[in-house]
Amino acid sequence: MDLIAIAVPFFILALVVELIIDWRKGSGLYRSNDAINSLSAGILSTTIGYFTRFLPLIAWGFVLRNFAIIDMQPEWFDLSPSGLLLWVTAALAWDFCYYWFHRFSHEISVLWAAHAVHHQSEDYNLSTALRQTSTGFLFGWIFYTPLFLIGFPLEVLITVNAINLIYQFWVHTQMVRRLGVLDRILVTPSNHRVHHAQNERYIDKNYGGMLILWDRIFGTFEDEAAEEPVVFGVRKPLANLNPFWANLQVYDYLLFDARKASRWRDKVAIWFRRTGWRPADVEERYPRRATDLSRFQKFDPQTASQQRHYVMAQFMIGIAGALMIAELYVQKGMQAVLIPCMLLWLQLFTLGLLNENRSSARRLEWLRLLVAVPALYWLLQSTTDGLPLQAAGWIIVAVYVIASATWLALIPSMDEELLSY
Ligand SMILES: [Zn+2]
Ligand SMILES: [Zn+2]
Repeated sequence: MDLIAIAVPFFILALVVELIIDWRKGSGLYRSNDAINSLSAGILSTTIGYFTRFLPLIAWGFVLRNFAIIDMQPEWFDLSPSGLLLWVTAALAWDFCYYWFHRFSHEISVLWAAHAVHHQSEDYNLSTALRQTSTGFLFGWIFYTPLFLIGFPLEVLITVNAINLIYQFWVHTQMVRRLGVLDRILVTPSNHRVHHAQNERYIDKNYGGMLILWDRIFGTFEDEAAEEPVVFGVRKPLANLNPFWANLQVYDYLLFDARKASRWRDKVAIWFRRTGWRPADVEERYPRRATDLSRFQKFDPQTASQQRHYVMAQFMIGIAGALMIAELYVQKGMQAVLIPCMLLWLQLFTLGLLNENRSSARRLEWLRLLVAVPALYWLLQSTTDGLPLQAAGWIIVAVYVIASATWLALIPSMDEELLSY
């Protein structure tokens, strides 16, 4: 049973409810470009996961088969008092490992490169929760390997991981302020807001997944203070709405420093030292400006309103596509979803460019609509068995492409829109 797949409709529902409340109150918690970028990173993470998620499973399976200290049986984890105690132990153990994984993800450069994506949003709402990395599979599994060494069954750990991830969704909101004593025991919206802050006082604090107790034990807890409002985001802003670049930006910084460092020791150390560390010679020749929070402004490129609406509509279609791909993956596996994933990735890429109002954006969007025709044709041929289904599919594809192309052609540029007022 895939708990995360079951949770997705509830995530979407909660997000829509938060969006409507925000819209009615006019509190400005959502900006469409930032939210679309966050959700695009989430879709990218999930779809890239179809091609990478087997890698940690191979490593964990190997450890479990060859080195497990206790031969724990899945049947032990039932609903009896001892079974429930085992479930709680597994969940706590996973949360403990998560704390350390998450802490190292902030404190070690190469791990930060993977995790930074989750923190680049300069808003804080439920869409931020889904803003996940696509490269976490590289090192994340290492931190949970001790649990497999102890001998917890794979299916149990997969379940507690899903529970941990699902729990973390609801804390990404500004609509819940303080929760009293809970803010000191559990990870809550208040103490997780602190974690997403770029204020000096809040940096590298509150790493917990479900329990904030770990931070209190290991000295990384910081309470949200009324006199210090949280400024969300990262110290080196992404300044971009491209979900691919969001995943690569910090690796690119590190690669730049590694290339420019003169000593070989530094070229290696750059990746594994404390986040922010730079060799003295590189720092001297290529200084990076420190962030001045008093002048902080959110990255918010302006686009014609019709173009924004077009992107929103296309993004909704992208979400529907991602849900269909998820179903196809369950039915037919990794190979069947490669072409649709590539089509979806191209879509996320061009929508990001449109939201940034790049000059090449519309040309690339035309190209995407053109490419969609043979790609969707191939998809219809390979996934539908009966002719009536294929015919219906063709009508939908034709209507989609023609309607999108017509709408795109009719969108005025921002200058034209301003002139019309
Ligand atoms: Zn974090
Ligand atoms: Zn978070």
